[in-house]
Amino acid sequence: MIVSMIARHDVSVRNWGRLAIAAMICGAAVAAFRDAALAQSADLVAINGRVFTAREGAMPAQAFAVRDGRFIAVGSSQAMQAYVGAGTQVLDLAGRFVTPGLADGHFHNEGGGPGVDLSATRSHADLIAAVGAAVARSRPGDLIVSNSDWHEAQLREQRLPTAREIDRVSPLNPVVLVRGGHDYILNSAALARWNISAATPVPDGGAITRGPDGELTGELIDNAKRLVALPAPAAVTTDDVLATQRKVNAYGITSVRIPGSYKGEFFQALDAILAVRRAGALTLRYTVYLPGMGVRDPARIREIIAKSPLKQDEGDEWVRIGGVKLLVDGGFEGGHMSKPFAEPYGKGGTFYGLTVVPTAAYTAVVRTINDLGWRATTHAVGDAAIDEVLDAYEAANVEHPLAGRRWAIEHLFVSRPEQLVRMKRLDLILSVQDHLYLAAPALKAYLGEMRASRVTPVKTYLDAGFLVAGGTDSPVVPFNPFFEFYHFLTRDTITDGVYGAEERVASREELLRMITINYAKLTGEQDLKGSIELRKLADFAVLSDDLLTVEAKKIPAMKALLTYVGGREVWRDPSLGGR
Ligand SMILES: [Zn+2]
Repeated sequence: MIVSMIARHDVSVRNWGRLAIAAMICGAAVAAFRDAALAQSADLVAINGRVFTAREGAMPAQAFAVRDGRFIAVGSSQAMQAYVGAGTQVLDLAGRFVTPGLADGHFHNEGGGPGVDLSATRSHADLIAAVGAAVARSRPGDLIVSNSDWHEAQLREQRLPTAREIDRVSPLNPVVLVRGGHDYILNSAALARWNISAATPVPDGGAITRGPDGELTGELIDNAKRLVALPAPAAVTTDDVLATQRKVNAYGITSVRIPGSYKGEFFQALDAILAVRRAGALTLRYTVYLPGMGVRDPARIREIIAKSPLKQDEGDEWVRIGGVKLLVDGGFEGGHMSKPFAEPYGKGGTFYGLTVVPTAAYTAVVRTINDLGWRATTHAVGDAAIDEVLDAYEAANVEHPLAGRRWAIEHLFVSRPEQLVRMKRLDLILSVQDHLYLAAPALKAYLGEMRASRVTPVKTYLDAGFLVAGGTDSPVVPFNPFFEFYHFLTRDTITDGVYGAEERVASREELLRMITINYAKLTGEQDLKGSIELRKLADFAVLSDDLLTVEAKKIPAMKALLTYVGGREVWRDPSLGGR
């Protein structure tokens, strides 16, 4: 049945038969009729589906027609017959569910990389074995570095390994486990290589973790990571860009927003993406934010903006520059809170997380961006970090109002009710992700059960009337949009059950809008994409199940059967067979 989903219906024979009869009556009239028929015939007509258009209040449609990469009609299967011509491909959806192309509002990269792969480890034994295998392949003294797409919440022990534990398989080779975007874990040889000891001063905006015995555990957080100089990553190639888009297209994803870091050197990677664009080979649309994370100097921000090959909102429907990405606090282990971390992480009620960029410097940077007519979006995990962002945005707002200019905040794990009022006044957009799905037990340990159960209160944000766009923060969390959808719908987590059921978003339509049309509003492209409507880019995906009705627990295993970008098929699930 699935194989029959694509069938070339040769309706054209009938049309041309009619034309032939007309030809006997009047040649000129036939030519006019034929031209009219060609003018309205589609490249692709999809019929017999359940098509979620993302239009507010609209019932699912059955069918649509596409020409020159855009939707030219949406409606009933019957009505689409008018668009079927000689060269039209007819896609019989056989009742399948279609969504506008899915989008990831906070996507760094798809994960993986040249380092040690820890993504499939489930225990310390697995992790130590993976490091041991890498040591066995190396020469004595070689540096061993891991990929970043793993988290201790996936390990049975639900804690990071220590330097001493890694030493057991790597007594001589320095090892740096990169975890997410905020953490390094070093073994003793690596601590020695960079002269990090119990006597090392802790850098401002960073942390060097100690165990109960006062010894360093090997964990370096945020600005303390600067004590370590890892070799520069390999340049991003055009082949790598092609491989990435293949991977994400397979999940129905057609657009991603890159928040200031991708892989490798930022501008070199952007050049590689633009080279694929020039070759006409992109199948994924990008909105890219320039890297302003950690910047404390307005002059540096001016340099970064001057270096960009495109100015803000320049580009086309494939690659656009969205603004500048900033950062004020840490991640899971360093989000800046107004109340201390849970013990023992709270260190006797004294640890509130990290201020990675001091308030005055951050505010100066924000004002500079605003002066230049650009927009910022800022990573802020804790409520104290959100205070810092709001103070700076309000200062900038006095000079040039931010309303209507799509300024945003990223993550917003923890916030307070009065902050919503301030965010509303500035007309901010909220960019949220499903970190809790992966990291629930770690967040419970760091923040305590009450605070963790409210992490990323998406329902609260939607109910307050914000434009909320979804995303994953991949590779910190897997980029699978069905994990994200499932988590926001159920508040279930991978290893620790449901957290904060009161933050469930009951409306599946609303959740789908977060990763379709709301995303397009976040990037200012709502007239171009994000819904299945006339004249919009024909980005859509045919899914394995009906996302609006399927049993919730089946959602994480869902997949895209077909993905189209600009009316072109870019992914076909192997179960469908060839064309
Ligand atoms: Zn991120």
